[in-house]
Amino acid sequence: MIIASEGPTHPMRFGRQLHSAANGHLLPVINPSTEQEIGSVPAGGAADVASAVERAEEGGRSWTALSWRARADLLGELAVRLADSAEELARLDTTDSGNPISGMRYDAMRAGEELRYFAGLGGEAKGDSIPWTADQFGLTFREPYGVVGRITAFNHPLLYTVGKSAAPLIVGNSVILKPSEHTSLSSLRFAEIAADLLPDGVLNVVTGTGTEAGAALVEHPRVHRLAFTGGVPTGRAILRAAAEGIKHVSLELGGKNPMIVFPDVDVDAAVRAAVTGMNLRRSSGQSCQSTSRILVHESIAGKFIEALVALVETLRVGDPHRDDVEMGPISFATHYERVMNYIEIGKSEGATLATGGTRPAGLDVGYFIAPTVFTDVDPQMRIANEEIFGPVMSVLTWNDYDEMLQLANGVEYGLTANVWTRDFTAAHRTAQRLEAGMVWINGETSRPAGVPFGGFKHSGIGKEGGLSEVLGYTREKSVIVNLV
Ligand code: NAD
Repeated sequence: MIIASEGPTHPMRFGRQLHSAANGHLLPVINPSTEQEIGSVPAGGAADVASAVERAEEGGRSWTALSWRARADLLGELAVRLADSAEELARLDTTDSGNPISGMRYDAMRAGEELRYFAGLGGEAKGDSIPWTADQFGLTFREPYGVVGRITAFNHPLLYTVGKSAAPLIVGNSVILKPSEHTSLSSLRFAEIAADLLPDGVLNVVTGTGTEAGAALVEHPRVHRLAFTGGVPTGRAILRAAAEGIKHVSLELGGKNPMIVFPDVDVDAAVRAAVTGMNLRRSSGQSCQSTSRILVHESIAGKFIEALVALVETLRVGDPHRDDVEMGPISFATHYERVMNYIEIGKSEGATLATGGTRPAGLDVGYFIAPTVFTDVDPQMRIANEEIFGPVMSVLTWNDYDEMLQLANGVEYGLTANVWTRDFTAAHRTAQRLEAGMVWINGETSRPAGVPFGGFKHSGIGKEGGLSEVLGYTREKSVIVNLV
């Protein structure tokens, strides 16, 4: 266990109460732009999770008893507080994750939107009446689970903290959030902002590693509903552990998302979409929905690659707090090594490194990697199949439609896909045949509130972002009524 030594310690927060790890251990908080230690967070474990569950159960009683309208009013007020602190929270995420400030301002705005959107859906968690005879009928009710455990990934810390708490909260659950050990600061600050507004114990943050704090949350016998955002191997481990307690688990996992480019496109528009879709500007390509696998038609491949490389090379990489910087560093050291290792794998597999692949000139400190494009990528190569989760794009070419579809669907993932063509029928037919939970036609990244998001195949179980997410935090109870 690493004991942090420099900077302030940011304690865990269980409702209004501050909490240190029972074992006294701390984890360092490292600024990825400078590689400096800027503080620490408690390395929580099973004892801390047990305390959080007790607080959450206590707080949950009064929260559940409120009308959904009253809960919605409080979540609306929380969105106002969030907006008031948006700049501070965005700065915190930029320092902690290395994501550019423009992207983190956007995340703070989106987080408020999620709160307001889900607050408005509370009344939809309603039941049915099922007729039988004049004297007998069935009713169904949707009840909260009680305590919900939410375990999140490192790449959009505030957005996940807020957005992924909103649906469980509006239907009367209390939430224990376990943010990534690499980016916990904005979760702790958000919980502080919410502390005197929500009933005590309704929103709780346990910090620590996945194998200790995260696993303890998964295993706790009184946490019956778990939701996870992160990698496939962790998702598997959580499903296995949750099987012991027969828990309801939803999983938002990784992707190796194809962007399919037909020969009839406006090449410049498609190239802009490929770069925006990679989320280089929001999170250095550390995005589950990044357009990391470009399948471009052979007839326009030369023009497309030339324009792609030219655009990628214009991106300004550097101090993510600066307004004119478009891409920051990778969020933490081991992930930086992992991404760099994939670049070496791509080279050794025989792909052509068209641009990037190294530290950008002049940035000797910080986990910076120049945005990278590989061409001449073969479908069998690891960089064509495995999620890199960094600023690395692989370009493959096609000339036969059916082979292209096989290629698009030929990975273990099925999170998102993008189809670029002016042919309306080809676009829809392709969308129908893609094994992906979300398909953009001539678009990238953005989606209206309420559009469900979630993967097929190894990319996950369940949908988030719409009504189904809200209903997924309720359990349905049937009551048979006999009029005597
Ligand atoms: P990760 O799986 O390493 O960690 C995610 C979270 O799980 C962290 O909070 C971690 O501490 C915790 N954890 C780790 N081991 C655990 C265990 N045994 N039990 C319980 N919790 C455990 O993922 P990451 O590196 O933070 O994020 C990158 C991954 O997340 C990528 O694969 C990416 O595609 C995926 N992701 C998916 C979505 C989506 O919406 N589908 C969104 C963002 C990220």
